[in-house]
Amino acid sequence: MGKSSPHTVLTLDEVLQRIGEAKAALGRDLVLLAHHYQRDEIVAFADHVGDSLELSRAAAAERDARYIVFCGVDFMAETAAMLCGPHQTVLLPAHDASCPMAAMATADEAEAALRAAAAAWGEEGFVPITYQNSLAEVKALCGRWGGAVCTSANAGRVFRWALDQGKRVFFFPDRWLGQNTALALGIPEEEIGLWDPRQPEGGRPDFARARVVVWNGFCHVHICFTVDHVRAVRAQYSPITVVVHPECRTEVVRAADLNGSTSFILRTVRDAAPGSRFAIGTEVHMVQRLARDYPDRLVVPLLPSTCKAMARITPEALLRVLEGLREGRTPGKVTVPPDITHWANQALARMLSL
Ligand code: SF4
Repeated sequence: MGKSSPHTVLTLDEVLQRIGEAKAALGRDLVLLAHHYQRDEIVAFADHVGDSLELSRAAAAERDARYIVFCGVDFMAETAAMLCGPHQTVLLPAHDASCPMAAMATADEAEAALRAAAAAWGEEGFVPITYQNSLAEVKALCGRWGGAVCTSANAGRVFRWALDQGKRVFFFPDRWLGQNTALALGIPEEEIGLWDPRQPEGGRPDFARARVVVWNGFCHVHICFTVDHVRAVRAQYSPITVVVHPECRTEVVRAADLNGSTSFILRTVRDAAPGSRFAIGTEVHMVQRLARDYPDRLVVPLLPSTCKAMARITPEALLRVLEGLREGRTPGKVTVPPDITHWANQALARMLSL
């Protein structure tokens, strides 16, 4: 926030009070969505808290709200903007809440990779699938090529849909989610290729052998976790159940007891008996919230790993958007060009129908 902002002189309590007042004044015109990785002060004001799939569904279902304020990162707000109606406005409270993993695959780079895949497999021989954590332009590219979006909650189902058609899969942009999903479906490691956009021709993966080729992108929050962290937490707290997100490296997923999406992790802790013990490998704000929400269970982070992009949504940034709306302005409005929306929605619709 710049020095000239009036909110810099407010205490946190004053900011939170004014958020509450602005939200109450906006009433049913406003829906506030917050991802699980948001800080507590933001989550406290959310109408829906969820992972990206749940929030996509919530954005698509909230047809009465004029304003959807998305406390998450850019690709989530873009998805909400593409799924909501023309009478609705989506706002992202911080313009720099930008996911670095999504930025690892641009549309031009992705298209070059799909052309190489088509040359090897034939245009009808494969399906491009992109993680929800990708640019709208990459979702649109996949839509144009007959592909789909997936999230960490439904990646297995979307891969299965493609493979059951007898097709191969090209997956953007998270290497680890793609590889872990393929392995969980029984595809052997030697049939999973790697496309590295930093190498000439993507490092020339062995298309003839591969059933799945994954883009060499990663989430810095989740690749921090190592097998040594898993060993250390077992040594300190044994017996303990280690649960990690599938954006973690494959060896970490293998070393853990369970892996799954943020919603899976949440359900695992919620449904456990009092006295259960968990070490969680995902963003630390969610882990700390689980520890507070379930004080009769031990919940510790595998390592305190923070998403800096999510952390850009501060209470001050949220207040600036809500007070802007009250004044008739739309700060942080997210728009996606119509042609991108059209094709990305094809890919999103395939996911939401599965
Ligand atoms: S946790 Fe990882 S994938 Fe999610 S927004 Fe942050 S950097 Fe992107």
